[in-house]
Amino acid sequence: MPSYKKFLHIGLALDPIHVGAGGARLGRVELTIVRDPVTRVPKIPGSSLAGVYRTYVAMAEHERNPNRPVNHQDWPYYPHCAGLGQPRGEYKGHCARPDCPVCTVFGFARGKDQAGGFAGLAAFTDAHVLLFPVPTRQGPRWITSPDALRLVGLEVHGVDQDAVYLNSPQNNPMNLGWLLLPVTKCEQFEQIDNTLKKYKVPEYICNRLALVPDRLFSHIVNSNLEVRTSVAINPATGAAEEQALFSYEALPRGTVVVWEIIAKNPKHFRIEDKEICAQVNGNKMDDPQKVLEVTKKAHPYLEHLGVGGMGTRGMGRLKVLFPDQSPSTQTVSCSACSTSATSSPSGSSAPSAGDVTASSSGTEQGGAP
Ligand SMILES: [Zn+2]
Repeated sequence: MPSYKKFLHIGLALDPIHVGAGGARLGRVELTIVRDPVTRVPKIPGSSLAGVYRTYVAMAEHERNPNRPVNHQDWPYYPHCAGLGQPRGEYKGHCARPDCPVCTVFGFARGKDQAGGFAGLAAFTDAHVLLFPVPTRQGPRWITSPDALRLVGLEVHGVDQDAVYLNSPQNNPMNLGWLLLPVTKCEQFEQIDNTLKKYKVPEYICNRLALVPDRLFSHIVNSNLEVRTSVAINPATGAAEEQALFSYEALPRGTVVVWEIIAKNPKHFRIEDKEICAQVNGNKMDDPQKVLEVTKKAHPYLEHLGVGGMGTRGMGRLKVLFPDQSPSTQTVSCSACSTSATSSPSGSSAPSAGDVTASSSGTEQGGAP
């Protein structure tokens, strides 16, 4: 019996998604979203995912048995087992019981008499952008990059020119937003298509893929984010408040993100010297697969209530397309691709990776003091 198992998750943004970076900054956009510090590509932090999963699993468990009495013998899951766990007023905090599917899977902040806590059986990685929709003259294209595809087990080599790599020849050059790029045909593109279809990425997206080098991916994503502007309305006059205009950015609708849930083996853990004895779908939660079954209860809520901020402004809904075993790695080579503009050099992708690291670390150092 393994001590843990990794499960790949692929999600489609049904609305723009805004997971705020916290605080406002001076610039084009006041309320920015969280970005990877190295690549500058926006992401949804694992902590945000863990938080919404916990809340939604607690809601699901509560709805399954809404008449559960409010006492220590039969603890209600929601809202008490959701949230931060510190008791406050009516809110009693986490129940911390070995038979609670919420507290065992997501952990709890304290045991009885405030002693210790429990880390939880499920761990969440950050959700990274896998496919990002960009307008072109021929309609939308979903761009991806070797770094992004590595997250779904595809090792893509030879994407080293400042070009768009496509499965079929198209109008050359192609515009991705404001950026005009030469088109290169990649013979092995079908492998990428097939892998994404296996992960239930809709066909209309798979048919409109475009592969770009990692260094361009970050630029294109950041210059095609959704930016909205809002203003506060004065309730007395019904008119806009002075100086209450603000703008915020978001991952656009149609973005496909990827994250992993690492599920630990419940048999290897004890809570106050008791075996973990939570139930899921009528069975004892006694292996990593059943820990995943608990987290899956959050998915319908994620699709309707969403993740991140601005939920009242039509933002945040995320549909989980694929929750299952992480894949083994496949290699795809674009090195032998023929270019209609120039012939492709036989370089590896190593120089481009170096470029990204060098330029990003420069920015970080510059911003540190
Ligand atoms: Zn609980």
